[in-house]
Amino acid sequence: MSKIEVMDINLSNKIAAGEVIEKTMNVVKELVENSIDAEATSIKVELTDSGVKEIIITDDGTGMDKEDAVKAFSRHATSKLKSVDDLFNIDSLGFRGEALPSIASVSNLTLKTSNGEVGTVVEMSGGEMLSVSSCDLNRGTKITVRDLFFNTPVRLKYLKNLYVELANITEYVNKMALSYPNIKFVLTNNGKVLLNTEGKGNLLKVINNIYGVEVTKKMIKIGCSNDDYTVSGFISYPEVTKPNRNSLITFVNGRYIKNNELNKAIIESYHTYVPIDKYPIVVLSIEVDPILIDINVHPTKMDIKFSKMDTLKELINDTISRKLESLTLIPEVISNNKQEEFIEKRELLKPIIENYSINEEKDEYEKNNYNIIEETTLDFEELEKKSEKEIDYNIPRIKKIYPVGIALSTYIICENEDGIYIIDQHAAAERINYEKYFNAMKNHTNNIMDLLIPIKVELPTDEYILLKRNINIMTDMGFNIEEFGINTFVIRSHPAWLPNYAIEEAIRKIINIVIENESFDYGKFIEKVSITLACKMSIKANDYVSMDDIEILIDNLRNTKNPFTCPHGRPTIISYSKYELEKLFKRAIN
Ligand code: ZN
Ligand code: ZN
Repeated sequence: MSKIEVMDINLSNKIAAGEVIEKTMNVVKELVENSIDAEATSIKVELTDSGVKEIIITDDGTGMDKEDAVKAFSRHATSKLKSVDDLFNIDSLGFRGEALPSIASVSNLTLKTSNGEVGTVVEMSGGEMLSVSSCDLNRGTKITVRDLFFNTPVRLKYLKNLYVELANITEYVNKMALSYPNIKFVLTNNGKVLLNTEGKGNLLKVINNIYGVEVTKKMIKIGCSNDDYTVSGFISYPEVTKPNRNSLITFVNGRYIKNNELNKAIIESYHTYVPIDKYPIVVLSIEVDPILIDINVHPTKMDIKFSKMDTLKELINDTISRKLESLTLIPEVISNNKQEEFIEKRELLKPIIENYSINEEKDEYEKNNYNIIEETTLDFEELEKKSEKEIDYNIPRIKKIYPVGIALSTYIICENEDGIYIIDQHAAAERINYEKYFNAMKNHTNNIMDLLIPIKVELPTDEYILLKRNINIMTDMGFNIEEFGINTFVIRSHPAWLPNYAIEEAIRKIINIVIENESFDYGKFIEKVSITLACKMSIKANDYVSMDDIEILIDNLRNTKNPFTCPHGRPTIISYSKYELEKLFKRAIN
């Protein structure tokens, strides 16, 4: 019996508005989603010239009989949706049936499909059906799309954007592979393998296929739940970062979604662990009762609305923060050969580079492409176990280390039985002071110190007005501050935690921050004050530091909540393990 129904015209109009095939990426997306809907366990995507010349998608899904294969090319045929009501209860990924005629209308297309009985071949060109024949075929579907957009003016445009197209397709297929670790995905371009997953359900292995061994070693498993949500997945050590948010990957009930609120919650958890314009790699799968979510049915969007969003954000934030707080996060200098990796990457791109020498797009592609295929020698079970290990929160996260000297008037060299450590004296002092100021303000530890000589601050009228409006913030912090004549305030006492060697400078900095802040969020305010003061008030690079001061600095650093990064997210400490040193000096054979 035929599975494809011809859609009600009312419904098809609603869909048509959002259904535009204008990029090779759209074609890949529609066809891959058809394959997933057809319950494929293996999906192979083969591109020639980023798909502009040819896209071949092969799956082992349920396939179609002859009647369905032909009907699939009539506009508005769908195997899933019959009424407008169905549109709002979508549990499949795509709008099956609508995409195929659209793709066929702008290409030369061959459909080979079999439901396990008889195979059917349909040949299409520019939307016209050239032939329908029978053939021998295993169960599944193979769609070949050649000369995409050959009959439209957009074709030329895509010749210029090959790198961007390939980067987008790669990113999409990567996400589907992460979303469906049970499905085997293969992606090739001009014969080069860009992704090849196992399809056996191991998420960490898919991460390894996409990001490589070095990243995979730095992934940590997390899992948590509350009354409504269950979250599981992997997060990266803060030292592994990407220049954009593309690697914050979230799935809801197995479906890839992009949600700014969730991304914000993840980024917030890494606050001060990574620099402000860097992002970790996070792959999270969220399970929730569908009643609590509202999927935006627009086919090109992947957004979702959650009820009880706050509890979900809190759950994610708490879990990631706690995990990060349990780990020793000293980046280790490793003598791997970056040069080799680079050459390998160039090899991968060579066929494209030779055909089309367009440089900007190449850079864009390299920036986004993580698909270097590596030999895998990882013990995945061991890795997962290691990342699940709970750590005693009372033990300092940096082992006892002993200073041996200072290099370049900036870097403190230390050692212990495990290796050599290098501490950036400014970054370390900044972290210590940041936590000190932040905690004092957060806990309102308002020990007050009187000033021997009150400090007068005269301000321009506009700033005077702004400060006057928010004066309670200053008094809440423990300042005794009052108006004192025209455009002037006098400060008679201050909170005790202010650095006593630069009180006036610190007060002026705080006043500036009060003036600059339009809307007031106390948490953000004290954060900003702490970071600004910590940076200004800490020892700098090239400042002289005595060995006694160094001992104190190291002790204080070891006792901070996060000793590994300064409040700007830069490392405070790096290490060379004894083993790495032995390797570098050829004392050990790798
Ligand atoms: Zn600084
Ligand atoms: Zn810093």
